[in-house]
Amino acid sequence: MHNQKDAAPPQVIIVGAGPTGLALAIELGSRSIPCLVVEKNDRTGHAPRAKNTNIRTREHLRRWGIAGRLAEAAPFGVDYPSNILFVTRLGGHLITRFEHAFGGNPQRDHHYSEHAQWIPQYKLEAVLLDHARSLPGVRVEFGRELVGITQDENGVSAVIRSVDTGAEATKKALYLVGADGGRSSVRHQIGATMVGVHGLSRNNMTIFEAPGLAEAQPHGPTIQVWQCNQDMPSFIGPMDVGDRWFFVPTGIPPETQFTEEQLLGMIRRSTGLDLPYRILSSEIWVASRLLADRYSRGRIFLAGDACHLHPPFGGFGMNMGIADAVDLGWKLAAVLQGWGAPALLDTYEQERRPIHDYVMDEAEANHALAPNQLARDGIEEDTPRGEQIRKEVADLIWKTKRPEFFSLGVVLGYRYMGSPIIVDDNPSTPWVRSVDYVPSAAPGSLAPHRWLEDGNSLYDHFGPGFTLLVLDADPRPEVLKVQAQARHLGVPLQVFETSDKEVADLYQAPLVLIRPDQHVAWRGGAVPDDLMSRVCGQGMKAPHLTGAGMGVAVDRSGKGHQGSVPPMVADRAPAGAEIRQGR
Ligand SMILES: Cc1cc2nc3c(=O)[nH]c(=O)nc-3n(C[C@H](O)[C@H](O)[C@H](O)COP(=O)(O)OP(=O)(O)OC[C@H]3O[C@@H](n4cnc5c(N)ncnc54)[C@H](O)[C@@H]3O)c2cc1C
Repeated sequence: MHNQKDAAPPQVIIVGAGPTGLALAIELGSRSIPCLVVEKNDRTGHAPRAKNTNIRTREHLRRWGIAGRLAEAAPFGVDYPSNILFVTRLGGHLITRFEHAFGGNPQRDHHYSEHAQWIPQYKLEAVLLDHARSLPGVRVEFGRELVGITQDENGVSAVIRSVDTGAEATKKALYLVGADGGRSSVRHQIGATMVGVHGLSRNNMTIFEAPGLAEAQPHGPTIQVWQCNQDMPSFIGPMDVGDRWFFVPTGIPPETQFTEEQLLGMIRRSTGLDLPYRILSSEIWVASRLLADRYSRGRIFLAGDACHLHPPFGGFGMNMGIADAVDLGWKLAAVLQGWGAPALLDTYEQERRPIHDYVMDEAEANHALAPNQLARDGIEEDTPRGEQIRKEVADLIWKTKRPEFFSLGVVLGYRYMGSPIIVDDNPSTPWVRSVDYVPSAAPGSLAPHRWLEDGNSLYDHFGPGFTLLVLDADPRPEVLKVQAQARHLGVPLQVFETSDKEVADLYQAPLVLIRPDQHVAWRGGAVPDDLMSRVCGQGMKAPHLTGAGMGVAVDRSGKGHQGSVPPMVADRAPAGAEIRQGR
């Protein structure tokens, strides 16, 4: 393992070793950018939080070379069926079921290179941490709290306090990223405010041991169960080895607190199965829909929950934070390596904000219908009337809930429209928002995936920098032109040529320029003279790295900003983007 003592001075300080901070450290470390991650907590505990590592996140893990390690860490095996059950009670009637939810179908699919995986967030974090620490130049320090930041045109200074001793030290770097979660103090320190709706629902997540529950319930393997009864409507599901399950009652009055005895009784009542349950932990979480009104100030950026919070329905939050880290990571590396213009960093918010808005729309829509709203008088009856009621509820579930469990279009189908570093051949082509994924190579989209004849993923041929995909042998002088532009600017570029007819059909152009994050930067036949400089942000107006508001206040409370929340703002599609909704 890399000796952390030998690390070079950090160029980037990352606050928070959650999934977003660790993903950013990997993105930077794998590009040889020295960075320091500071984390005030030890991040242990039973709460799984995210359980769905989605297709796109697993594709990033494949790019980083650690998808196999995550598969090995899967508590029930990587191919465990991702079935969602709707029942009256775990020990009661089946209402309906969805199979292969959340992209968890282990069958090879042309649309992606990795299927999703059901795994507690803490197990994913362990894999990310291990990998981050193995990269030269990455230091991860636990028990260290950021308590203040200042910045000027030359860099940032962060005051870091030891949680154990209270000793403070000042660390300097060129950039700082607040991946410090929903109560981000970095957000407060750059003067950003969360805008939206706070408190859509207040929930209790209990983790418990349930020896024999998987075998006692008659409905087979599952990852999530909706218990739709009028007595104790709730979510329940297996989460880890050792018979560990989660339980979330729904429709409870906001201020209710439960004792351990009450929780044990609630689990028994909800399932109708009397087993020797044992509570491991119980915590409250509040579902909100909030988006920061700015994602950066000067050399300081926000990523992950620090700039967006939404209900966990659909399993997007952690995955979206990891995608933020990927977008910001390659851009920071490009600027620090000198081939990206500083203005490239402005495109982080320009590209990510519309996607955050879109995903939040989906999560909020999913949140609108919970088990308590699906329970009906007579739903548990062992009679033809009970059967009829369950059938009607099943019909309603299929009409309303399918987009929550099958949302490949949200996971893979988003497009960075209107971004100044996307060279669009046909800007009037609309981005059709849909939960169903329709692969598109229109610039700004994720490069469509294909399994190649040799059995490899197309993505395995993409490099860590830009990749020029050559799908037609004719445009040789144009290939040389792109290579010359890249050489001139020092942009890492590799060329991949394939005669695969199906790939050519997908991309609809002889040449396609793919970005480091695997999004299409440009496609066409005749290469624009300024192609490489545009996709690297050259020629864009430089960001303001100094000026009013740049000396930011020191917050020593460490609690962050929890002020009042203004009402929801309107959808912010980038100028010129035509967006159509097709849920
Ligand atoms: C019940 C529940 C279920 C969920 N299910 C899913 C799901 O299925 N799929 C999904 O994608 N997401 C899910 N999520 C959301 C997911 O857990 C979060 O989006 C994710 O943890 C955000 O990661 P992050 O790294 O941005 O922030 P966090 O995980 O909050 O990490 C931030 C870190 O910063 C540290 N920190 C804060 N301030 C400082 C400071 N001043 N100095 C040093 N360190 C600091 C904190 O200690 C913390 O460790 C769920 C959430 C909940 C509550």
